[in-house]
Amino acid sequence: MKEIREAIVSGVEAAELAAMPLPDSYRAAFVRREDAGMFEGMESSEKDPRKSLKVEEVPIPELADDEALVAVMASSINFNTVWTSIFEPLPTFAFLDRLGRENRLGARHALDYHIVGSDGSGVILRTGNGVRKWKPGDRVAIHCNYVDDQDPTAHDDSMKALNQRIWGFETNFGGLADLAVVKANQLMPKPSHLSWEESAVNALTASTSYRMLVSDNAAAMRQGDVVLIWGATGGLGGYAVQLVLNGGGIPIGVVSSPEKAELLHKMGCEAVIDRKAENYQFWSDPHTQDESEWRRFGKKIRELVGEDPQIVFEHPGRQTMGASVFVCARGGTVVTCAATSGYMIEYDNRHLWMKLKRIVSSHFANYHEAWSMNHLIDRGAIQPILSAVYPLADVGQAAREVQLNQHEGKLGVLCLAPEEGLGIDDPDKRSHIGEDRIRMFRERS
Ligand code: NAP
Repeated sequence: MKEIREAIVSGVEAAELAAMPLPDSYRAAFVRREDAGMFEGMESSEKDPRKSLKVEEVPIPELADDEALVAVMASSINFNTVWTSIFEPLPTFAFLDRLGRENRLGARHALDYHIVGSDGSGVILRTGNGVRKWKPGDRVAIHCNYVDDQDPTAHDDSMKALNQRIWGFETNFGGLADLAVVKANQLMPKPSHLSWEESAVNALTASTSYRMLVSDNAAAMRQGDVVLIWGATGGLGGYAVQLVLNGGGIPIGVVSSPEKAELLHKMGCEAVIDRKAENYQFWSDPHTQDESEWRRFGKKIRELVGEDPQIVFEHPGRQTMGASVFVCARGGTVVTCAATSGYMIEYDNRHLWMKLKRIVSSHFANYHEAWSMNHLIDRGAIQPILSAVYPLADVGQAAREVQLNQHEGKLGVLCLAPEEGLGIDDPDKRSHIGEDRIRMFRERS
């Protein structure tokens, strides 16, 4: 792997890279099947990814005809890696075993270790016989929508495919490793002005936010829409704010510290709510919500922007959903993709039906949506929200910080990249877009 890394960093020709021998094994971050019960009986916050995530050598799997083997230069932490590493809501080995029953190549995934990671940037080393659009040497960003193109249900909106999966969460051989196995239709061109780590942190959360807000498959935001964004400097929210501003909407960002509020102002988000400072208590006890607190929150929104939000960008789940449904404008849309604080949701249905609101579900993005978002990033219209970078060896620590909400934006992980700042192919484009914009989240740490 050392020679492959040096060849990539020194910029060897594609043909030379394709001819380089592969090692027998590679470094990967994984959880073990035998550890799935290690946190039994503990509170979620006590379940520590530093204990369950291992970084060790694993063998290189066989490559299928529609797949590529990518030398991963950098990857990122997503919340799904936190879920896998704390074995909540269930151990992900059940997903691998289901994929393992599909066919011989599916069986490659059903191992006693699960290599995690659903983002990545890097260089293609090998392609399967059926790959047409990509070749060794191509510099790529990877999205995580893993679909079977022989499945007829995958051919309208692939996110609705019956066997749609998230790579590195519901499949093995994920991106938090020196090599990754991906389907060719997960590949996108690496943004030419970004470094490896800046290119690696976008695809999962940025594409999810794109589908939630921009796509006709979810909220389809229009110019002038007021959009309430929970966790507005988090992995999803940091892209959502940029998409709303770009699309002529009016974002209201909710965050939990003065530092995050300041970052939002720097991004151009004028309406900001610090939920900690305002001390909203939407739940008066674990079973009862307090409508007067929803009203206080709604009043604050009207004070800030003069109207109710046409779109509420939801993902905290149980803690906030009652408030989200309440404050959403008459005829408006609550778009949800997650439930970090609990998935058994309660809201007052009268506020939904009497005011003709709708709740729309959204999940990652189809290839077209992910590609469209990558295109915006490549054009410099959306900036990466990379705030800190860790070596692969410290993946457990990085996951722990995301689990405890101690981060902003996205945490990058260097896999084969020996240091930060490498991989920038178009420095002129970069200086035209501006270091200060590209590194807005990074400069703060
Ligand atoms: P993140 O980087 O941790 O950001 C989430 C933000 O939500 C935090 O910055 C925090 O902001 C806010 N938050 C957390 N708990 C909250 C609570 N109880 N009440 C209000 N706000 C709260 O995570 P992310 O990458 O944005 O992902 C968020 C969730 O979406 C995760 O559960 C993840 O698994 C899920 N997700 C789903 C998809 C999909 O395709 N379905 C894709 C990506 C992510 P403040 O503390 O500043 O308010």
